[in-house]
Amino acid sequence: MSQENLIKLECTECKRINYYSQKNKKTIKERLELKKYCKHCKKHTLHKETK
Ligand SMILES: [Zn+2]
Repeated sequence: MSQENLIKLECTECKRINYYSQKNKKTIKERLELKKYCKHCKKHTLHKETK
């Protein structure tokens, strides 16, 4: 498992990192955006990939 493919998913509302994921940056260029539950906001928010 390569560290290079590790990405963090940050809540766009509170800016906390709630999820870790993986993707191949060589094949997927666009940033991930996922609707996920944020325990800090206590609701589903948009999570964006961050470095
Ligand atoms: Zn949040």
